[in-house]
Amino acid sequence: MTVTAPAPAAVAHFRFFALDVLRTRRLGHSFLRVTFGGPSLADFRSGGYDQSLSLFLPPPHREHTVLPSTDEETWFGAWRAMPEEERPVMRSYTVREQRRTEEGVDEIDIDFVLHGDGSPASFWAGRAVSGRRILAIGPAVAENKSVRFQPPAATDLILMYADETALPAAAAILDRLPAGARVRAWFEVPHEDDRIVLPTAADADITWIVRTEPGSGRTDQVLRVLRAAEAPHAQAPYAWIAGEAGTVRAVRRHVVQERCVDRRAVRFTGYWRLGTSEEQLLAEAYAGEAPSEEPDSAL
Ligand SMILES: Cc1cc2nc3c(=O)[nH]c(=O)nc-3n(C[C@H](O)[C@H](O)[C@H](O)COP(=O)(O)OP(=O)(O)OC[C@H]3O[C@@H](n4cnc5c(N)ncnc54)[C@H](O)[C@@H]3O)c2cc1C
Repeated sequence: MTVTAPAPAAVAHFRFFALDVLRTRRLGHSFLRVTFGGPSLADFRSGGYDQSLSLFLPPPHREHTVLPSTDEETWFGAWRAMPEEERPVMRSYTVREQRRTEEGVDEIDIDFVLHGDGSPASFWAGRAVSGRRILAIGPAVAENKSVRFQPPAATDLILMYADETALPAAAAILDRLPAGARVRAWFEVPHEDDRIVLPTAADADITWIVRTEPGSGRTDQVLRVLRAAEAPHAQAPYAWIAGEAGTVRAVRRHVVQERCVDRRAVRFTGYWRLGTSEEQLLAEAYAGEAPSEEPDSAL
């Protein structure tokens, strides 16, 4: 869930979970993996692939997240009515992995991009320590609408584009694809040390794009690489595109217009928008200013 106002009916397959920070680990240059546990995770049902969830992170002067209500019918109004300085921020993230350890402990990993202390989620992640508790709306059933990666059965080639915010989702997709699946992927990252190992059984040809262009120049850099690249011939390609909204739009256009992929076989999601916080995106969604072909998108 991102910029769409969460109506109770739309979250029937979701519920609140309390997530306790167990440990953190730095990955590459830009990522911090936060591993969460807690008794409520026994009922957490990640659908895998690009499963996302909504985190509620405490304001800087609070250690734990507190909400006046976690009731399906009333939480949203109660959360919005909180004084701004006390209101937890809501942010969308990806379940990189869910597992039960040999000791029977339920855990999930979330990989946060650390992009600066001026942004609440990045700030929180950079200071996450064991014992801190946050809240999340996450999946209570594995088949849910926050798994967006849904290639049709006949798919014979998967095209992928992700920037660093969507790399955890891309990694989780690759993790799960079977041997024989053909993948052509382009992953854009801010730093060469972010080219992390991506285990997969699939036949995956991955090109890393280490960003050199600031601001909107990033989109031109990505398009230059894509236009120069070959992709294998396919009868029924499926494209999964996620990352910064402006680049996502441009990559989608490239895939549909220049690579002639059927637009119905393209799943694209803006994970964030340059210069715009998630609060601003939410406000736009309420005002009806953010028309999007993808309901849960920052486009
Ligand atoms: C379905 C979905 C899944 C996602 N999964 C992940 C995930 O697994 N890991 C992850 O790190 N992010 C993920 N994101 C993206 C994340 O929600 C956004 O980056 C979010 O804006 C971060 O919140 P913030 O409080 O740090 O920044 P905000 O307060 O929302 O934004 C503040 C400023 O920072 C800019 N900004 C936001 N993100 C970045 C960034 N990464 N780099 C540079 N500038 C940025 C904004 O444009 C704005 O100007 C996901 C988004 C969606 C929709």
